[in-house]
Amino acid sequence: MSGVYLHIPFCEHKCIYCDFYSIAPSEEHADAEGMMASFTELLLKEIDLRSDTVPRGEMYDTVFFGGGTPSLLEAEQMVSLLDRLRSRFEIRPDAEITMEANPGTVTEERLRAFRAAGINRVSFGVQSFYDDELKFLTRIHSADQAKASVHAARRAGFDNLNIDLMFALPGQTPERWRSTMEQALNLGPTHISCYSLIVEPHTPLARMVEAKQVAVLDTEADAALFETTAEVMERHGYEQYEVSNFARPGFRSLHNLNYWRHGSYLGFGPSAHSFRGTHRWWNIANLSTYASRLRDGALPTAGEEELQPEQMMTEAVFLGLRSDGLDTANFDRRFGRRFLEDHRSRIEDLLRSGLARLDGAVLRLTSRGYLVCDEICATLE
Ligand code: SF4
Repeated sequence: MSGVYLHIPFCEHKCIYCDFYSIAPSEEHADAEGMMASFTELLLKEIDLRSDTVPRGEMYDTVFFGGGTPSLLEAEQMVSLLDRLRSRFEIRPDAEITMEANPGTVTEERLRAFRAAGINRVSFGVQSFYDDELKFLTRIHSADQAKASVHAARRAGFDNLNIDLMFALPGQTPERWRSTMEQALNLGPTHISCYSLIVEPHTPLARMVEAKQVAVLDTEADAALFETTAEVMERHGYEQYEVSNFARPGFRSLHNLNYWRHGSYLGFGPSAHSFRGTHRWWNIANLSTYASRLRDGALPTAGEEELQPEQMMTEAVFLGLRSDGLDTANFDRRFGRRFLEDHRSRIEDLLRSGLARLDGAVLRLTSRGYLVCDEICATLE
């Protein structure tokens, strides 16, 4: 499988916890519409330039507009980007085409236009159904707006719909987290992602924590909320197929599965990463340098690396175990190893302690195993 990612680095407002590369034109008194239009031109140029450097004939199964807030683009801009991708690359006619959306930025009319533009999956960054929590996170929408956006998306024809939620918020009780999940489930999405709030360095949240204005939840409380998450989601028929991701049968995110299966992907836009075979490269994470590079007719690559077999193996183990399992037979074929034999005693420990299970040759973590995924992977190198 292969995918295409387009990074749209604009937001209405920069949330206190976010360390993704994005800027808020309105907070910088910039002309947002003009910026969006010239950014679309830059992306088109990058698509053209990149298409000359990758071999033809590869079929791309997914396109993902991420960010940032891609729903700030106009539908016509999405159409021109999709058209250009189709003219330069082989995009599968029934490709999964996802757009991330901030509930505060879409109306039913805009959603209809996005659907008509070819977007067939929408992912809403809802985070919470409590207004005080949303206010703390400095999200631009309210709980009611989030619900209205999901209903509007349905009416606009989106039947494949993800809701992003966030837990381990300061002071969050298990009851509140449960209620946020229940409210999301009541909206009947096909997919729910539940992320723990991470205090990323150099964010306003990190400074608040450092100044002791905010106290983060301790590890035990965070772990308890995580276990509640898996239990609630499973009870409602959502399969956990990655540490933070839950889907109704048949609705796993193909785009993310491709990342976790070490598939190829091409990333466009500032800070976007790409991967083919053993080669990884990434773009400049700065809009003005990205723009000037492209205006000079050069690709905006910031760095690249060739992964060595040991790195590929470590990644394959990590990506497989954090998602729907490590196919050890496939791993052995790829790397000339005997994974189950090489790690026999450690794997027996994992099975005995209920942290993993073996389905044929596929080693899968249980919900409890996902909780300590990083530690498990470190012992299987
Ligand atoms: S809307 Fe999303 S990308 Fe933009 S600042 Fe907030 S969390 Fe970051």
